[in-house]
Amino acid sequence: MEKLYHFINGNQVVDNKGRFGAVFNPASGEQVSSVPFADESITNSAIDAAYQAFPEWSSVPSVQRARYLFKFLELMNKYKEDLAKIVTKEHGKTHPDAIGSITRGLEVVEFACGIPHAIKGEFSENVGSNIDSWSIRQPIGVCAGITPFNFPAMVPMWMFPIALACGNTFVLKPSEKDPSSPLFMAELLKQSGIPDGVFNIVNGDAEAVNSILNNPKVGAISFVGSTNIAEKIYTTGSANGKRVQALGGAKNHMIIMPDADMDQATDALMGAAFGSAGERCMAVSVAVAVGSAGDELIKRLTPKIASLKVGPGSDPESEMGPLITEQHLNKVKDYINIGEKEGAELLVDGRNISLQGYENGFFLGGTLFDHVSPEMTIYKEEIFGPVLSVVRSASFAEASSLVDNHAYGNGAAIFTRDGDAAREFSHKAQAGMIGINVPIPVPMAFHSFGGWKKSIFGDHSIHGAEGVHFYTKLKTVTSRWPTGIRAGAEYNFPSMK
Ligand code: NAD
Repeated sequence: MEKLYHFINGNQVVDNKGRFGAVFNPASGEQVSSVPFADESITNSAIDAAYQAFPEWSSVPSVQRARYLFKFLELMNKYKEDLAKIVTKEHGKTHPDAIGSITRGLEVVEFACGIPHAIKGEFSENVGSNIDSWSIRQPIGVCAGITPFNFPAMVPMWMFPIALACGNTFVLKPSEKDPSSPLFMAELLKQSGIPDGVFNIVNGDAEAVNSILNNPKVGAISFVGSTNIAEKIYTTGSANGKRVQALGGAKNHMIIMPDADMDQATDALMGAAFGSAGERCMAVSVAVAVGSAGDELIKRLTPKIASLKVGPGSDPESEMGPLITEQHLNKVKDYINIGEKEGAELLVDGRNISLQGYENGFFLGGTLFDHVSPEMTIYKEEIFGPVLSVVRSASFAEASSLVDNHAYGNGAAIFTRDGDAAREFSHKAQAGMIGINVPIPVPMAFHSFGGWKKSIFGDHSIHGAEGVHFYTKLKTVTSRWPTGIRAGAEYNFPSMK
């Protein structure tokens, strides 16, 4: 059995004494490795390494820091296939989906390679007589990232490239369910020449996270995961004086108007609801069908969901892989049981799937509920699996109010040919990321990613300009040089004449 390690100060740190977690191949159901769970002292040693590396790293000119990231980008592109295989092995998503997710992460590295431009300050000449003023952004110090299982390579890349480019050092606590992708990236960062201590990984669970939250040397925390944990990270981290951005769960709605291109809307729903087995924070889990769109949609969706090709992510024929763990599989099945009990109409039931040769894998077939209503548990809660709920709605106004009144507000989409409805929706919808005839509106790296309401805690979204702001502190300098003219002391509040 392979034993994984921490990555601290440029070294693989093996821990034989502490607690361990099991990492599975979700397609076969077999344990493939065990991952050490860092205690407080190991976590603190990673934070110390980052703390000590900070003064030198933050003094490296930003163009030079960018050159290290260019090298990292080159290596990542070279070894993308290998990394994608690791993602598929531990997470289960299909190989093309794993490649896609890595590409989206690399776009953030590409953005971070432009840091000299992104971090440049502002200068105002002569704000008063012979007085100049400028604002600069300086790094925070040690930044930490705590990441979820569903994008083991991409979500860490939402964070560390920009944090490092801005001059910070970093401690990552990846998901304990699929920790090998970040360890692979750590080796490539080292090969890029990034000095030891600048990027560190502590593997583990809540104990490592609590140690990060309580360590005064950590200046900022980026968290992505479920809402309850996001809220805890935000409240505890903020109470401990840290800057925190904590992105939580989601229940993304897609409104389908009667004038939409139904085939396009159906294809979009298939990908958005069942890609990555629904384990995406941008998955569409609720389709709100307005008026006659309902029957049209159900007619198209039902056969497609029933014939989804479910299989191991390594099989090029598979359209959808397994869920992450047996525990999660059972949780999603429970939601299907609850949906049935609460009166939703189960049109396609994915519970009884069995794949020859993969009988122990954590597979669930695509599942479709019709006539779901807002008071049902399967409507209110995030399921995080391949379960699509269709809600019937009488009007655009009623459909929009569902989006606005839901506790989560990550993303929302509308499919329509009516520009007026689309514009009104994009303007008024209470969600952070909006798609118009686009199902998963994951913003590009040079924009920022983040929801509203229970989908985010803290006021900075992730990557893009928001990322640069999150990982830097603003300093404004006002300067005058002696001119020989003496005005004497000023006792009134200075104002420019
Ligand atoms: P999770 O909240 O269980 O775990 C996220 C991280 O928190 C992991 O590193 C985990 O080890 C740690 N953690 C777990 N329990 C903890 C505790 N009690 N105290 C401290 N730390 C703890 O999330 P997950 O199951 O790995 O990921 C799925 C969730 O992430 C979904 O809710 C999904 O919507 C969300 N997600 C959100 C976004 C977004 O951008 N909003 C992106 C991806 C995933």
